[in-house]
Amino acid sequence: MKYIMAIDQGTTSTRAIIFNHECEIVSSAQREFRQIYPRPGWVEHSPGDIMASCVSVMAEAVARAGITWESVSAIGVTNQRETTIVWDKKTGEPVYNAIVWQCRRTAPLCDELKARGLSDEIFKKTGLVLDAYFSATKIKWILDNVDGARARAERGELLFGTVDTYIMWYLSRGKVFATDYTNAARTLLFNIHTLEWDKDLLKLFDIPECMLPKVRPSGHFYGYVDRKLFGEGISLCSAVGDQQAALFGQLCVEKGDMKNTYGTGCFLLMNTGDAPVESKSGLVTSLGATGSGTPPYVLEGSVFVGGAAVQWLRDELKLIGTAAESETRALRAKDSGGVYVVPAFTGLGAPRWDADARGIICGVTRGTNADQIVRATLEGIAYEVHDVVEAMEKDSGVKLTSLKVDGGASENNFLMSFQADILGCDVVRPKVVETTAAGAAYLAGIACGYWKDTDEIKKYAGTDRTFSPSMTKKERERLLSGWRGAVRKCVS
Ligand code: ADP
Repeated sequence: MKYIMAIDQGTTSTRAIIFNHECEIVSSAQREFRQIYPRPGWVEHSPGDIMASCVSVMAEAVARAGITWESVSAIGVTNQRETTIVWDKKTGEPVYNAIVWQCRRTAPLCDELKARGLSDEIFKKTGLVLDAYFSATKIKWILDNVDGARARAERGELLFGTVDTYIMWYLSRGKVFATDYTNAARTLLFNIHTLEWDKDLLKLFDIPECMLPKVRPSGHFYGYVDRKLFGEGISLCSAVGDQQAALFGQLCVEKGDMKNTYGTGCFLLMNTGDAPVESKSGLVTSLGATGSGTPPYVLEGSVFVGGAAVQWLRDELKLIGTAAESETRALRAKDSGGVYVVPAFTGLGAPRWDADARGIICGVTRGTNADQIVRATLEGIAYEVHDVVEAMEKDSGVKLTSLKVDGGASENNFLMSFQADILGCDVVRPKVVETTAAGAAYLAGIACGYWKDTDEIKKYAGTDRTFSPSMTKKERERLLSGWRGAVRKCVS
């Protein structure tokens, strides 16, 4: 028996998951690591902590599966995107902590570049909005603020990588220095049309090209894990950013396929095939995962507050004891009685982009009860997702036929069936809910010949449940019009 291992290096924890040929999870191990907040708005990780967590979960997953390293056919890596590490090429020593995607320290620099009118050029080349979230300004910050770093980088002594690159470099003891299209596309330095690091952008952000890794398809033989770490000949066969990994893990490989992850926030990605779609609604364009050749383009939109609204019901309003209880409470309410909850706690994202908007509860009457508030909160998540889907349909000209779902809150059957009603299309929840790890595993397995192609994987990775819409069009329009009215009330 042979297996594929996925390393899922996330923002708060690292997991290793072992899959068998039937795409079932054989074992998994997880370890949280330190979050470092040096100042308000700054977020860092220690690269040493990240690697220690990787190595320990890898060993633990193998031990738990009761297998040996010889039976691991390949490893795939999926990672938190945009997080930036700069390290010494000879010693492997990071020159600074990893600057995490959430870190806002370079927001003033982004404002300065925006004021110089550079947003349009950057958007045209990279598909991204000029924001501190992406890697470029984080690299520049390290080069400008760490003593001697810029001179060392210019002498070719320092390397830059997103977390996938650092993991592969470390596991191969410096033999693999590469990333994949999905990670490169989130740096603000990669031209998504020419599929190359962009010389003008490197100049603009003042970053020496010699620091940058080679860019490869997500599913690809990158190299071997050093045999002193885990034994002989274990190959690294995929690297892929977490959201694109989930898209591939949901087998959204055709143009128009779309998935939504209902985690703390919601992440929607649509495969737009071989043509990039330039969004007019504030969505970003990136590259998707592929096993070979040129990658597909994807449109991406996010909702800041998804499952977090359920945590708010539990921890702040104390209306529910557990997240799962929101389902029974919502069903008990029968309907929301005209109540709308717009969970714009940190502003509104796509398609409205209003950073100063704040959440509201409206339509409350003397008869409104707690169950209805709970129900309206879940409905609020579904409406927000609807709005991003609508923007994607408008931008791409492709009508959604079904939405594939994953993430913690996708376990909520009420939320999923309301989502189907509001979208007017099927919502499909897969058997393998670990879609991010599955995506990295599928890509690695295809790259090393463990699986032939996605058609073979489709035979194993079935559906857990399909939610079909049962609401009339009239009712849907009535509810959506109420929602639009509620959103208007909370814009700044
Ligand atoms: P993340 O990866 O962002 O940490 P997860 O995919 O683990 O998120 O999902 C966790 C989120 O899902 C939490 O915000 C939690 O409130 C929500 N959640 C979990 N189970 C349910 C449920 N049954 N109903 C509604 N929300 C849920």
